[in-house]
Amino acid sequence: MNILVTGGAGYIGSVCVEELLNAGHRVTVFDNLTEGHRSAVDARAQFVPGCLSDAILVKQTLQDAKADAILHFAANALVGESMTNPAKYFRNNVASGLNLLDAAVECGTRKIVFSSTCATYGPPDRVPMTEDLPQRPINPYGESKLMFEKILQWYQQIHGLEFVAFRYFNAAGASEKFGEHHRIETHLIPNVLKVALGQTAQCEIYGMDYPTPDGTCIRDYIHIRDLAQAHLLGLATGRTGFYNLGNGDGYSVRQVIETCERITGKKIPAVEKPRRPGDPPRLVAAADKALRELGWQPKFPKLDDIVATAWEWHQQHPDGYPD
Ligand code: UDP
Repeated sequence: MNILVTGGAGYIGSVCVEELLNAGHRVTVFDNLTEGHRSAVDARAQFVPGCLSDAILVKQTLQDAKADAILHFAANALVGESMTNPAKYFRNNVASGLNLLDAAVECGTRKIVFSSTCATYGPPDRVPMTEDLPQRPINPYGESKLMFEKILQWYQQIHGLEFVAFRYFNAAGASEKFGEHHRIETHLIPNVLKVALGQTAQCEIYGMDYPTPDGTCIRDYIHIRDLAQAHLLGLATGRTGFYNLGNGDGYSVRQVIETCERITGKKIPAVEKPRRPGDPPRLVAAADKALRELGWQPKFPKLDDIVATAWEWHQQHPDGYPD
């Protein structure tokens, strides 16, 4: 298939592009490089620099790519930042995303696969979390993704644009070529590994007083390559709807730090900090629907393997991407 990948220079997008190309698809990456990196775009893909706010360029790119489907990763995705700058999240994730959907309708694109998030649920009534739980986001990031989920449903109903929306839990790990490099790193695993690399003296734990066994937040970490595989499965004609992507195992911040210490063989000091606004205490997926309906089979469900691949990549790229 011909596939347009927005945000294909970002962390999750770059690995998905690699897997799409490995599977024989033709890929055009559309990315404004505010978060992404030019050198994270697989050399086999076409690259078009541009922003989703540019409706004319979006449509032109979709036409030129002769896209049968779109994988839509381009977005801002930081819970903490969204609590201080909500407009950025609603403008970029919702308003600019509409340009993509309208172009898809105009160009007759059959399908869109959308990166949604477990942050659309807010603090869940129960874990593991199934797709039918109420969605009550507690930060503008989650709200912006929920708004786009709703827009997708209307576009499918009214315009016949098929969608699959994946609600990611915590993407982590790396492929051999591509890994996690944010210019300002806020994510737990890369920040902890920076200590192991000797780049920072200590990592930080945001909140020790959550209602969890060790008082730190619990998350469900999923390997980036497993996430990518789900997207390939989601492209199949007729597949539509919402799917959680996680492993069903929750690890606390403390447990993640311990795992990183074990895998790297380094001591990783941690300091206790106040809670980060917008963080739910515990998010763990029930991904049975993706397993059952898409035939998804995670290959790297263990946190040890996830951290080991991240550690490998960070050792190879201690300063991340050059650009
Ligand atoms: N976290 C932390 N220290 C850090 C980065 C993150 O304690 O340096 C915590 C954060 O508060 C959350 C969990 O680790 O409870 C995962 O955060 P991350 O930013 O990696 O992903 P998120 O769950 O926000 O998507």
